[in-house]
Amino acid sequence: MLLALDDYGPPIVNHEKAKQIDAAISTLAQRRTTPEVLEKLRLENKHTCPICLEDFACDEDILTLPCSHHFHATELENWLRRKPRCPVCVSDLPLC
Ligand SMILES: [Zn+2]
Ligand SMILES: [Zn+2]
Repeated sequence: MLLALDDYGPPIVNHEKAKQIDAAISTLAQRRTTPEVLEKLRLENKHTCPICLEDFACDEDILTLPCSHHFHATELENWLRRKPRCPVCVSDLPLC
């Protein structure tokens, strides 16, 4: 990991906003990596997690944002709870 979680910035303290972010996270496409999923990600050149810069491995939970960037699920959740936008293309997480 290049970034410690604390480096993402302070957690969002506004509870209403935090609830909206949690709700938005729960609507994201989550899947478990299989050799087929990894192969597809490799073809799209999206097989590296932009947060920890590690390649995805088998049997990991990954989350996909509406901008179709993929991340390790727990890392993305921690990120979004601090900054509700994509770490790669900076599109805002659509809040309900
Ligand atoms: Zn990662
Ligand atoms: Zn993105």
